Amino acid sequence: MHPAPPAPASAADAGAGAAPPTGDAGGWHAIDAADALARLGSSPAGLASAAARRELDRHGPNELPRQPSDGLAILLWRQVAQPLIAVLLVAAAVTGALGHWIDAGVILGVVVANALVGVVQERRAGRAVEALLELVALESTVVRDGVVQAVDARELVPGDVVVLDAGDKVPADCRLLEARGLLVDEALLTGESVPVEKLEAGALPAETPLPERRNLVFAGTRVTGGQGRAAVVATASATELGRISALVGAAEPLATPLTRRIAAFSRTLTIAISALAALTFGIAWLRGYELLDGFLAAVALAVSAIPEGLPAIMTIALAAGVRRMAARNAVVRRLPAVETLGSTTVICSDKTGTLTRSEMVVVEAYAGQRIELTGSGYRPSGALLLDGRSLAQPPSAVAGLLEAALLCSDARLVESDEGWRVEGDPTEGAIVAAAGKAGIDRDRTERLRPRLDALPFESERRFMATLHATEAIGPWIVVKGAPEEVIARCETVAWNERLDARAVLEEAERMAGAGQRVLAVAAKSEEGPARALERVDLEDGFTLLGLLGLFDPPREEAVRAVAACHSAGIRVAMMTGDHPRTAAAIARAVGIEAGVGRALTGAELDRLTDDELAREAATASVFARVAPEHKLRLVRALQGSGEIVAMTGDGVNDAPALRQADIGVAMGVSGTDVSKEAADMVLRDDDFATIEAAIEEGRRVYDNLIKSIVFILPTSAGESLLVLLAIALGLTLPVLPVQILWINLVTTVALALPLALEAREPDTMRRPPRRLGEPVLGRLAIQRIGLVALLMFGAGIGVFEWEQARGATVEEARTTVIATIVLIEALYLLNCRSLARSAREVGLLANPSVYWGIALVVALQLAFTYVPFMNTLFETEPIGGVQWLVAAGVATGVMLLIALEKRLGGAPERRRGSAGRPRTPGR
Ligand code: ADP
Ligand code: MG
Repeated sequence: MHPAPPAPASAADAGAGAAPPTGDAGGWHAIDAADALARLGSSPAGLASAAARRELDRHGPNELPRQPSDGLAILLWRQVAQPLIAVLLVAAAVTGALGHWIDAGVILGVVVANALVGVVQERRAGRAVEALLELVALESTVVRDGVVQAVDARELVPGDVVVLDAGDKVPADCRLLEARGLLVDEALLTGESVPVEKLEAGALPAETPLPERRNLVFAGTRVTGGQGRAAVVATASATELGRISALVGAAEPLATPLTRRIAAFSRTLTIAISALAALTFGIAWLRGYELLDGFLAAVALAVSAIPEGLPAIMTIALAAGVRRMAARNAVVRRLPAVETLGSTTVICSDKTGTLTRSEMVVVEAYAGQRIELTGSGYRPSGALLLDGRSLAQPPSAVAGLLEAALLCSDARLVESDEGWRVEGDPTEGAIVAAAGKAGIDRDRTERLRPRLDALPFESERRFMATLHATEAIGPWIVVKGAPEEVIARCETVAWNERLDARAVLEEAERMAGAGQRVLAVAAKSEEGPARALERVDLEDGFTLLGLLGLFDPPREEAVRAVAACHSAGIRVAMMTGDHPRTAAAIARAVGIEAGVGRALTGAELDRLTDDELAREAATASVFARVAPEHKLRLVRALQGSGEIVAMTGDGVNDAPALRQADIGVAMGVSGTDVSKEAADMVLRDDDFATIEAAIEEGRRVYDNLIKSIVFILPTSAGESLLVLLAIALGLTLPVLPVQILWINLVTTVALALPLALEAREPDTMRRPPRRLGEPVLGRLAIQRIGLVALLMFGAGIGVFEWEQARGATVEEARTTVIATIVLIEALYLLNCRSLARSAREVGLLANPSVYWGIALVVALQLAFTYVPFMNTLFETEPIGGVQWLVAAGVATGVMLLIALEKRLGGAPERRRGSAGRPRTPGR
């Protein structure tokens, strides 16, 4: 094998293009396919794996450089360029200008510390999101060493022969070798949204413009129909896509509707606080304060009221949620999904592969007589039973049925250490295994009747056809597919004089009623020379060969997950291309109620107006014989009735429905590239139970966000009250601005963080979904925040007065007030671990990070009180045992009062995990 001659300098820099035949970057369309292969040092049998490895070393991986994650400076700037921080900076400037260097320095220090914490967190969160991109790496089907196999798309090299199928994303720039109805959507490159048909046609004139090079396919475009094979000519940056955009795959910012609302809330808060600060300044001035003191008072108010740590906590809780979901096989591709998941009210799930295991076995063959097949999995051995007795030889009608079905199948079975595995469509894998059980030799059968052409299976068409050459009877066509489709094309039957279509359909219904997926197989011979399948008549004249009944066991986890969804107020609907009876039987097995008592079919949906559909969809939960376009209508109908819809899909044509759904869910294993890109979430294991797990995590994330808010806000509010009152009454400030900053910073970093890791509430999956647009904080939460703010305020004033009454210095008194507030917060943290349940019910030791946080805060507070340097910086003074006792006593008292409120105040909603969700339980 000769490696391609070295590429011209520019392409060599990009590192991944084979030398184009004309020396410029785009000559591959101007030579014919055989010539291209020769120049690439390849052949229709593909590269040898050793050669492919060498080329990979030479060209590097087939991936476009990632957008570099934002640099430190940008990250820092983003932390600083927030209105809240701007207020602090102004405060620092003002204090500095007034000559209060220490104060100005501390404020700046806090701003910097806050920004650093923010940067570190954003970096970590960003990396978590980038890691998600890795988890959904795309695979390509290639021919190497003459064998069709799946490889990571990043390992493609020039010369590789790739197999293209509907739903694939074209992995590299390629020269077509063969194409059958190959349609490619090139909007990405040309802006043209109508798919272009690609042909393997010979050489085109060299000057043909890019959009008209119909013998080439380009990286990043999508195959929307048909099939083809093509030789890779350029990868990575050397592709047309690489030329127009060197950067793709940037991670999205970590934001969801909730964090955006919080951000908006922060902005409003900032304006309000600025106004309040101005007001404070006015009052101070009216009361005859020095101008300077007035400024300091205004600053004190600003820093106390601003919840500095809130944005960081939001980001952290979200990132933690995304990571946990990924660990449970749900890869989130669009972050708002994390939150929307918690509001999902309906899940529309595919049946095959998601609710079932996609481990198909042919259990029955019918060709005039019923034959049962034994054996498990894809192992091609087992017995054929007639009336329970084992047969040495299959009856000839059954052998003919299986032979034809085998010829009309593409799947391969491979034996590995873990047993027999299917490569390709599981339905066809089952047929191949069944043929093996009947003792049919696949190689020999295929040699005798070589395939000339094929019309692949599509859900919309519900059948597949192949054209074969035979010696005895000339060109021969096999169709296999849904019984209605196939039997309608038949005139005769192989095992009888006359075809009784009714009787055969009844037989099919019986099999479907047992939960089997039923396929009918038929064949006919053609007059004259063999032609392409598109040209021959597939409408009638077939001879029915028989029926095959396949069983695909429901997933055990799905049964549990469906039940969990129901108790969480989420309806589960099943969608399938299978027969309504098959659908109903499997639905029953996994616990989905048919609603109207039976399955609605695609044909019935077609007859309904949108309004009628909306009404039906409100109760019907099993949809059979549906095609992708029905899914789109269904999502729209459900959304029209106010439902939040999660919808699964795997094919190319599912993409519109996935995009329309509130949560589009794609299949990581069996899904097409196109569906994965259209989805909000990808299931790495295709398992329905993973959707349920993701919803559970989504609800948990939201709960934890609320808990953090309920924890942080009262401190800010209580502090502002202290400052406001002192200024209004002309009293000494019980806490200084820098001291307030200390409290806010220390407590959010050390104390609020553990809340993001809090376990889920036991009732997470036992309460109805949160309504979108419902106020962020419920009545219970607002009530709690108000109470705690007041208690903190009262405690602060009380302790300050007590200290002053017993003659302590102002510094000492302030230090004690701060100790009290910090201790209150430490204890309040335990309370916030659940808004409704007591700390004891939550499990005191369930989240150890809480105690680490408290230990850290106590240590920091001791430093704050006793380290001389801190004393200078924050104007504190060491305090004695009595003061600590008082602080601890007050904090305990406050905690008891809050615990009491929890017990009484939230009574009607007490058992609900999250505060204030006035919604009637059960749907
Ligand atoms: P699902 O949505 O459950 O995966 P499909 O749309 O794939 O359903 O299948 C619908 C019907 O088409 C099946 O009931 C079966 O009769 C037929 N069918 C499925 N797969 C194939 C195939 N590979 N070849 C021919 N017919 C098929
Ligand atoms: Mg299918």
